[in-house]
Amino acid sequence: MKILVISAHPEPASLIHALRDVAVTTLHADGHEVRVTDLYAAGWKSAVDRADFPGLPDDARLHVPAASAEAFAAGTLTPDVVAQQADLLWADALILAFPLWWFSMPAILKGWIDRVYAFGFAYGVGEHSETRWGDRYGEGTLAGRRAMLVVTAGGWASHYGPRGINGPIDDLLFPIHHGVLFYPGLDVLPPFVAYRADRMDDATFAATAEALRKRMRTLFETAPIPFRRQNGGDYAIPSMELRPDAADPHLTGFSAHRLPA
Ligand code: FAD
Repeated sequence: MKILVISAHPEPASLIHALRDVAVTTLHADGHEVRVTDLYAAGWKSAVDRADFPGLPDDARLHVPAASAEAFAAGTLTPDVVAQQADLLWADALILAFPLWWFSMPAILKGWIDRVYAFGFAYGVGEHSETRWGDRYGEGTLAGRRAMLVVTAGGWASHYGPRGINGPIDDLLFPIHHGVLFYPGLDVLPPFVAYRADRMDDATFAATAEALRKRMRTLFETAPIPFRRQNGGDYAIPSMELRPDAADPHLTGFSAHRLPA
């Protein structure tokens, strides 16, 4: 199988890069093809601006979704973005490897999403009408592929537990899992999170690396997070609310969008 790994850390010798390399080595050993984009090493441009749309007339107001749609359709997106889109279409699985920074991903990785996820590629896909709200949340350009986060976090596992002060890790990662990965169709696997990362000693690293190897060996067997599909009948159109007969009306928040176990 083919796996695309995107990593985001300014230090080549960082812990997350060491874990990324463990993942890549394991995947190679199992006969998979792997492509790696190290965003800092590549000098990835993270801010969306006019330079992303070379076809936009100088005097035109920049409306990002419209410019993105036009450039995607005309094939005039910049070569760095086009190459990453091609890598996404090449891959059977996507791995994003990053340190948790302010409860989210580093800005450079957010900028990879902002730029690579063009209108017509990752959003604005499919029929939009009174009866259909596009191909998204389980459907779309990247459907049939898998995705997984590999994350280091300074906090303890308990800080991210069901009653931990930072909030449950599944809730914190929901915007990435559901909003960024499931949205264009990817099946999202449970994340691999290494806690207390700043205090990682050699023994803990060895155990963490071994746990990650196991996750890599089961990348294509692990059950995805059972998010409800937008077009599977659970949501009313156009309100996009869960239908009362699809989920307990008292169920609210992020977890409501997962099918019951
Ligand atoms: P590094 O700093 O590279 O290394 C961490 C430790 O791992 C070092 O002691 C290193 O010696 C050791 N190590 C052990 N084995 C190896 C090996 N083989 N290779 C490399 N290093 C090894 N944490 C949170 O929990 N929540 C947050 O919201 C949050 N926000 C942050 C925001 C910012 C801007 C920053 C800078 C940090 C934040 N943190 C947060 C902490 C952050 O998540 C951790 O610093 C980070 O995950 C550690 O991973 P790293 O790859 O940067 O580790």
